[in-house]
Amino acid sequence: MGKKGLGINTQLVHAGERGAPPQGKPVSTPIYATATFTYDSMAEVDQVFAGEQQGYIYTRYGNPTVAALEEAVRVLEAGAAACAYSTGMAALHAAIFACELAPGATILASQDLYGATIDLLYKIFGSYGIKTATADFSDVAALRAKALEVGPRVLIAETISNPLLKVCDIAACAEIAREVRARFIVDNTFTSPYLCQPLKLGADFSVHSATKYLSGHADVMGGVVVARDEVDLPTLIGVMKLVGGILGVWEAHEIHRGLKTLSVRMDRQCANAASLAEYLSSHSRVSRVHYPALATTPNRDLMKRVLRSPHAGALVSIELQENTREAAFRFMDALTLCVRSTSLGDVFTSVLHPATASHREMSPKRRLQLGITEGLVRISVGIEDVADIIEDIQQALEKSAGGGGRVVYS
Ligand SMILES: *Cc1c(COP(=O)(O)O)cnc(C)c1O
Repeated sequence: MGKKGLGINTQLVHAGERGAPPQGKPVSTPIYATATFTYDSMAEVDQVFAGEQQGYIYTRYGNPTVAALEEAVRVLEAGAAACAYSTGMAALHAAIFACELAPGATILASQDLYGATIDLLYKIFGSYGIKTATADFSDVAALRAKALEVGPRVLIAETISNPLLKVCDIAACAEIAREVRARFIVDNTFTSPYLCQPLKLGADFSVHSATKYLSGHADVMGGVVVARDEVDLPTLIGVMKLVGGILGVWEAHEIHRGLKTLSVRMDRQCANAASLAEYLSSHSRVSRVHYPALATTPNRDLMKRVLRSPHAGALVSIELQENTREAAFRFMDALTLCVRSTSLGDVFTSVLHPATASHREMSPKRRLQLGITEGLVRISVGIEDVADIIEDIQQALEKSAGGGGRVVYS
């Protein structure tokens, strides 16, 4: 370092960096876009590595922006610990891994889990000798019989099943899990902690695709695992450190921002969904509406026990009278406001065709067994004016009507 001071190349690298923390505490967590952290001495670094002093070392091990989101979701889920990952799938993988399964162990999964979760169980965990059995988690007696038969180490379900929107009796399933000494993982993506807190109902892990309701704006991907017991934290962090699918700091910031309006969005979305479901249940071109709050839905008091009243979620699935893929595609193509998109939980209303999207990998025979027909369309209801949503769906149903001798121009 001569008297001329630092060269331009050195200045480019170092100027402005590593200043003292700013005076005044930021009211929202800054994006700590840093891969690594430095300390004044190696002795301090050594202490942090040893866990004798609190501190960040390397962003794959932890980052303040991500930690702020983890803490927020942990509080909302009433858990003991939370870890964020790059996607919901990475989070599910971490939660299953945290159950410490040995080859030969069995996972008992709800038969109508998200399609990729089923694939994760068979293709990834299956390749390590871990077996998967499935059961209808809405039939508690059958589930218990199956659990006693296969002796699972893990039970996995979703708070509201996909795409037929059956509410899971989490407390009853947790009871069965305890009876057979299995861990119980609940994918809480469809409800968010605003509508349901699975850990309070006895689950061991609540998992989120933060890509959906938590962020809510279709502009980011992420996942979070919340554990009921702190003993699971080292394993969850271990997956973060060694598999490496961490949540990026920008994504963590976006999700944390989304979280602040979760209840406001959800209140509107659930109210809109209830109106839409009511409207569709008397529409002549719709043969069946799946929505937990309809008068025709069996076991509605279960919904009240599991979900925050008066809400029943913001997803509505419909089966078209003309129950074919062509009819579903015509209907979806005729929508002008609702977006055809492979996701859910966004501020805008979106539609998805389960048979060709979320459940595409499943055999047609298996899909039919589960009731996922070709004319089934899942609607994720947004925060728009409900009259506009209904009008768009109404005109698309009219316009796409086939088979009745109507000429369809378009
Ligand atoms: C989307 C989704 C996932 C996967 O989440 P990604 O963020 O896409 O990896 C898992 N479970 C459910 C219920 C989902 O809807």
